Amino acid sequence: MNESKHLPFHLFFLLCFIGTSFLSAQPFSSRHFEIEKLDDGVWAAIAKIGGHAICNAGIIDLGEETLIFDPFMTPEAAEDLKKAALDLTGHPVKYVVNSHYHNDHIGGDQVFENAILISTTRTRELIAQNQPDEIEYGKTDASKRLADINAANITSMSNQAMEEHEMWKGYYEAYVTSGPVLRVILPTLLVDHELSIMGSKQNVKCITLGTGHTESDLFVYLPEKKILFLGDLLFIKTILDERRKYRSLDNHP
Ligand SMILES: [Zn+2]
Repeated sequence: MNESKHLPFHLFFLLCFIGTSFLSAQPFSSRHFEIEKLDDGVWAAIAKIGGHAICNAGIIDLGEETLIFDPFMTPEAAEDLKKAALDLTGHPVKYVVNSHYHNDHIGGDQVFENAILISTTRTRELIAQNQPDEIEYGKTDASKRLADINAANITSMSNQAMEEHEMWKGYYEAYVTSGPVLRVILPTLLVDHELSIMGSKQNVKCITLGTGHTESDLFVYLPEKKILFLGDLLFIKTILDERRKYRSLDNHP
């Protein structure tokens, strides 16, 4: 028997209201990333192991609008990032910065097609050159790699090996799930030295010093808060060597 059928209407309404208020008060959560507040109006979106974000992103509240730094590897994870950004800032996303051309930093661009997409000139060229192959790889060979990973014997794995296993599983799942929907999106606002964006609440500088992690890298600096979003110019506690090994097994760039 459904007990709610016997509740007085006003009590039923009150319970619904409390339930809705409780749900709307919950902070945004995603299987792809965790939000970490860095300062007022500045957040890092840290990729979760096994999720489809893969790289870390940044959310910056400029005052009337929002800037996103590196919108993840997949549109699926970027959709959650867009919701999180709106939840945190209350403003639409106006700017999206691509720190470099690697697929795990640009796959979410298409979710922000109405925003102004910013990169260096060389990064735009490298996206145009490489992203079609990355999308093709997601539609074809990535599923073989994912099948190998899923077939691995995990019973004797150490905790660290298990963590790496889950990370790679998420990485190749991200390729496979995004392959059919990804499109090549090219940045439209190009920076070859420095670009300042003056917000009513926060100013940011997009700066390139040329070659670093790739042929051309762009980072974002918040001068008042002394916060830097560096993309892959800085790695801490990573398993980059393993990543290179996996990708060389595929003969994939
Ligand atoms: Zn990279």
